[in-house]
Amino acid sequence: MSDSYDDQNIFAKILRGEIPSFKVYEDDETYCFMDIMPRTEGHCLVIPKTPCRNMLDATPEQLAACMRTVNIVANAAKTAFDADGVTLFQFNEAAGGQEVFHLHFHIHPRHEGITIRPPGTMGDMDVIKANADRIIAALP
Ligand code: 5GP
Repeated sequence: MSDSYDDQNIFAKILRGEIPSFKVYEDDETYCFMDIMPRTEGHCLVIPKTPCRNMLDATPEQLAACMRTVNIVANAAKTAFDADGVTLFQFNEAAGGQEVFHLHFHIHPRHEGITIRPPGTMGDMDVIKANADRIIAALP
């Protein structure tokens, strides 16, 4: 298995506009969009615009930029879904649970007593779009 960055990964294609995504937020260094297999209502992803596989090869600048955006979007998502909390997931390499090899942070709005759904089920695109709009409306 190679541990170099592959610019044909799905998130690199999203960044280049080669495949569509439901954008939530972006700044010069990061992009946030909805996960199409959501495990919670409002599940979205924050990625750096510059290449790196995951947290292990990321620069301090990439990590800091992502965390700035995570903080902004997580607060908006908590407000948008009237959530009790937020869970952040971040996986590194296949053995660590990573499937897409471009650094990303999962934002999950959480409600007391409701578990995170298992991975791998495609969401309803109309619901995902509506959820993106809810988060956008709650952004500062
Ligand atoms: P990982 O296990 O690598 O942290 O998670 C990758 C995430 O990317 C999964 O939650 C999966 O649902 C999501 N994903 C995979 N393909 C696509 C896609 O084409 N578009 C979007 N928006 N998300 C994707």
